[in-house]
Amino acid sequence: MLLLSGKEVQEYLKDELEKKIEHLGVVPKLVILQIGDNEQSNVYIKRKKKFGEELGIAVEHRKFEENIKEEDLLKNIEKYNQDKTVGGIIVQLPIPKNLNKSNVLNAITLKKDVDGLGVVQTGLFYSGDSQAITPATARGIISLLDFYKINLESKNVVVIGRSSLVGRPVGEMCLKRNATVTICHSHTKDLKEITKKADILIVACGVPCLVDSSYVKEGQVVVDVGIHRTRGGLCGDVDFDDVKNIISAISPVPGGVGPLTVVSLFQNLVDCTVDMQKS
Ligand code: NAD
Repeated sequence: MLLLSGKEVQEYLKDELEKKIEHLGVVPKLVILQIGDNEQSNVYIKRKKKFGEELGIAVEHRKFEENIKEEDLLKNIEKYNQDKTVGGIIVQLPIPKNLNKSNVLNAITLKKDVDGLGVVQTGLFYSGDSQAITPATARGIISLLDFYKINLESKNVVVIGRSSLVGRPVGEMCLKRNATVTICHSHTKDLKEITKKADILIVACGVPCLVDSSYVKEGQVVVDVGIHRTRGGLCGDVDFDDVKNIISAISPVPGGVGPLTVVSLFQNLVDCTVDMQKS
């Protein structure tokens, strides 16, 4: 069984990014806006900051009170929209329920929407615009498959999860590569029957170890997007030990999709910088 090492791919993509940045001269800073103090978000932000620093890119982490008024948050986003030293803005999800997620994400100006989650970037992405930003995790999953030369052409790809962050955009990316894509979710009937038909199974359902040996078939490639902290340590949405002797390849947790989400965010930032320099 082949282990799809996100860490290895991250190193490779990081080298490429360093060369690109050298060529660009400078990459404007990334601003990460966090509302509240979600523990998992703190960990993700720390990783992004560290990775940015390794690349020589400044990352500003701005933390707001959980009960910030939406209009105050939007004013702050607008300030960063106007700031010429800022190349990318992200709002770390999840955000508190008292804020309207669409209003907040749509407040980020198109050219700085490096997560690609605002309505305009989303529209560009699904309409096939070549300049569109791909949400980082989806971009990372495709980079992982590309690195290991796992061809998507005419393959049956099954995605578990239909979120705008992962499931839908990765499904769309696979469609663009001429795969036949089935997107499943919590209302899907006979899920196991569908997943067993996949050549490539991408699992992003947010349920620890949901996918066990009864969901997979011999020879499948499995990408485990999930990440959960349990008493026994970190685990994904796939029961690794239960499926490992059946399938042909799998991304581990940790060390699989996670590192690729981080590098993809900075690829998006560099792409936005290149676009800005062109215009
Ligand atoms: P989400 O909660 O927004 O979406 C989960 C999706 O899974 C939904 O569409 C839901 O319908 C579906 N689902 C839930 N239970 C199901 C079930 N029993 N059967 C079938 N479908 C089911 O989650 P998300 O933001 O898409 O994230 C999914 C997972 O990926 C989470 O574990 C999250 O922590 C992880 N994640 C990891 C990274 C990374 O970089 N590794 C990045 C983003 C998300």
